Amino acid sequence: MFIDPACLQAFVSDIFVAAGSAREEAGEIAEHLVVSNLKGHDSHGVGLIPAYLLHLRQGAVFPNRKPKLVSDLGAIVVHDGDSGYGQPIANAVFAMVGERALTTGVVVSALRNVQHVGRIGAYGEQLAKKGLLSIHFVNAVYAQACVAPFRGSDARLMTNPICIVAPIGPDRPPIVLDFATSAIALGKVRVAMNKGVEAPPDTLVDHKGQATRDPRQLFVDPRGAILPFGLHKGWGLALVAEMFGGALAGGGTQASPDKPKGLVNGLFSIVIDQKRVIGDGGYFADVAELIDYVKASPAADPAAPVLVPGEPERAIAAERAAGLPIDETTWREIVAAAQSAGVAAPAI
Ligand code: NAD
Repeated sequence: MFIDPACLQAFVSDIFVAAGSAREEAGEIAEHLVVSNLKGHDSHGVGLIPAYLLHLRQGAVFPNRKPKLVSDLGAIVVHDGDSGYGQPIANAVFAMVGERALTTGVVVSALRNVQHVGRIGAYGEQLAKKGLLSIHFVNAVYAQACVAPFRGSDARLMTNPICIVAPIGPDRPPIVLDFATSAIALGKVRVAMNKGVEAPPDTLVDHKGQATRDPRQLFVDPRGAILPFGLHKGWGLALVAEMFGGALAGGGTQASPDKPKGLVNGLFSIVIDQKRVIGDGGYFADVAELIDYVKASPAADPAAPVLVPGEPERAIAAERAAGLPIDETTWREIVAAAQSAGVAAPAI
């Protein structure tokens, strides 16, 4: 099933307006979700709508909230998301932080107590449009953890993403390195279960810590877990994301016995005006030379050439511009969620 992205975005926006959001907020949520699908990250796209509306009904997320400035020390800025929808809150925070970084050269930003912010690269891309480089460590606190520590056998953390976005010149798109620290995104395990297929090897363990490819192990008790990516290295990054995104940003960690409702993200970000570091000199030229150099490595498989982070998403977005593929289960769930808010689905 394929759907026109503009038509889908309008439908999603109508759903959130019907659920109590102002049109502008609904538009920001809808744009973020549809762009995630366009970029190939369906786990962070419109399939999240039923969960967002469930969190609304549970009193975990509140429409039309604005970020609260907790402290402002010039180059250190702390915001509280006030349990608002993640995308509009984070958009507003990074608009402010970006302007500040253009003045101070660098900003350390903490954002706590915000509901699911979605694809972290979106905020790095927003900053890159201003010429800013950014590094983000993100944790998530949820009732049920899903990622086991390296050498562990039960889930202790969520999929804690790390993201680095770097503009590399006016004529080239930015480098967008943006991934979960788990071997596979939770949404992708759910998709495998819905499709009745196995998860990729070396991504899951059962409740005894033994390797499994059965995605159902993650959703039935006693639950298994997702492994961190890259053995001890990915595990170390997952832990640091929890420390910085949770404890340093001040929203708390998955270890807390009192879990907040819904899915709460914490973002610890460093935003740098690269011109202040290197001037208008040769950085862009050096990076262009580097990227051309690494991409010239002969592909082991001619059908799969060397790419740099951000390229796969741009390629998928170009393919999907004419029509976003949506599987039937996801579409049925979205239509049911829309109906619960009193919105009829468009014909597709
Ligand atoms: P992924 O495993 O698809 O990895 C994506 C990253 O790898 C991108 O930077 C991409 O450009 C790069 N990449 C992919 N193939 C490449 C190649 N051949 N060469 C070079 N680079 C390549 O991503 P994921 O772990 O499934 O995460 C998906 C999204 O989920 C991210 O946007 C992340 O921010 C988001 N996420 C959010 C939360 C949250 O709590 N808000 C939690 C987890 C993940």
